[in-house]
Amino acid sequence: MAKENPTDLKSEQDVSKYFIPPDLKKAKKRGKEDVKVIRDFDIPEDMQKIGKGKYYLVRTYGCQMNAHDSETMAGIFEAMGYQETEEENQADVILFNTCAIRENAEDKVFGELGRLKHLKLEKPDLILGVAGCMSQEEKVVNKILKSYQHVDLIFGTHNIHRLPDLLRDALFNKELVVEVWSKEGDIIEQMPKVRENGLKAWVNIMYGCDKFCTYCIVPYTRGKERSRRPEDVIAEVRELARQGYKEITLLGQNVNAYGKDLEIDYGFGHLLDDLRKIDVPRIRFMTSHPRDFDDYLIEVLAKRGNLVEHIHLPFQSGNTEVLKKMARKYSREQYLELVNKIKKAIPDVVLTTDIIVGFPGETEEQFQDTLSLVEEVGFDSAYTFIYSPRAGTPAAIMEDSIPEEVKKDRLQRLNDLQNRISRERNEALKDQIVEVLVEGESKNDPEVLSGRTRTNKLVNFKGDKSLIGQMIDVRITEPQTWTLKGEIVAMPLKEEILDVANG
Ligand code: SF4
Repeated sequence: MAKENPTDLKSEQDVSKYFIPPDLKKAKKRGKEDVKVIRDFDIPEDMQKIGKGKYYLVRTYGCQMNAHDSETMAGIFEAMGYQETEEENQADVILFNTCAIRENAEDKVFGELGRLKHLKLEKPDLILGVAGCMSQEEKVVNKILKSYQHVDLIFGTHNIHRLPDLLRDALFNKELVVEVWSKEGDIIEQMPKVRENGLKAWVNIMYGCDKFCTYCIVPYTRGKERSRRPEDVIAEVRELARQGYKEITLLGQNVNAYGKDLEIDYGFGHLLDDLRKIDVPRIRFMTSHPRDFDDYLIEVLAKRGNLVEHIHLPFQSGNTEVLKKMARKYSREQYLELVNKIKKAIPDVVLTTDIIVGFPGETEEQFQDTLSLVEEVGFDSAYTFIYSPRAGTPAAIMEDSIPEEVKKDRLQRLNDLQNRISRERNEALKDQIVEVLVEGESKNDPEVLSGRTRTNKLVNFKGDKSLIGQMIDVRITEPQTWTLKGEIVAMPLKEEILDVANG
């Protein structure tokens, strides 16, 4: 569509002539057709130097999956010759990689887009783009087209590999470019990536989600579950180990479903069992669904080594009725049984979780079940949320009569309880020696270093900057609710760590 200036007026009807809008109903369909693996990703020749002397800026919202997608976008930009900048005024391309999980995350993006209108007027050659989960929603695309006409480019989560072609269209045809595939595409291997730091790396093991929890938009925005081939994941982790990365986080909306769509008998447990043999100090994963957490996986995790003793295991509600309405496909009892199995196999495991309060119709009694489950499991920390309706999901049309103050009060009570437990769990670490991967200077005090334990707890301690990037032993001196303060132990005392681990 020709764009004469950034404030052109376009109606929704005009727009529908030029592209197929994303469609949540289509996105819900799960076909049987095979997902192809494309291994010959390349930047088109005419785009290989297009960014020479130019700058890109990618703003990321949402989960690690999105952050990792941004690393791929950055990799593609740099393969086209662009350099990264943090300065909006310097940027030739600004991309928002968005998140659709909560309404307020979306509002933030619209606020930013509005704010950048004047920059686009000052710099008409600036390319302003919106990518990520929000782009998969028809209502979002229509809103951008109607009210944010200074946006040049909109593309979806299945179209990242098309960035060079889409950018070409936006640059040379001066047209609004919208490409959002409602249905997931193939798995594209070997896309370039610019990883955020040289210590910790994210590795996608699968894409999409087939669980369709009633409150969640992800199965629509990210498509059906598609696992990467084990050999591709193993090769990527091996290469990262060779490059000196210290910690790998395996990513998927539901990593435990890994391999179910492959034609081989190979699941997440098998993958971890293969990856633990690679010489990389730590391997963790995000996020688990309790339903697919099988016994073999627990058996492999219990072998430890580089498989860390931390599991993020969202439970969302402690009440079986609410879980049913959420379509979580497990009961309170099944969740607790799983936790007990894990604790038995890995006695020092650290469990963290996600919890939703105020799901439509949740009674005080049902909320009490959530509190009692938190108490019973003893999570080290939890991400807690008030339920936020997402248009297009089944829960968004459920009757919700709980007043906002009640929801806020429940969240407060839940947070008070979790904070108390987090503090107790951390206090139990006093005087213990923990292995810390030193990540850098503390955000609040450059004199202090900070790093993370195997269980992902943040530890602050005084030390020389030369330690950044190393694994060191730290004695915990001052446990707090969310962080730990400690002091470096002069010599690594591996025996002492073992003694602590053995109780
Ligand atoms: S498992 Fe449920 S909550 Fe998680 S991404 Fe899939 S549908 Fe959403």
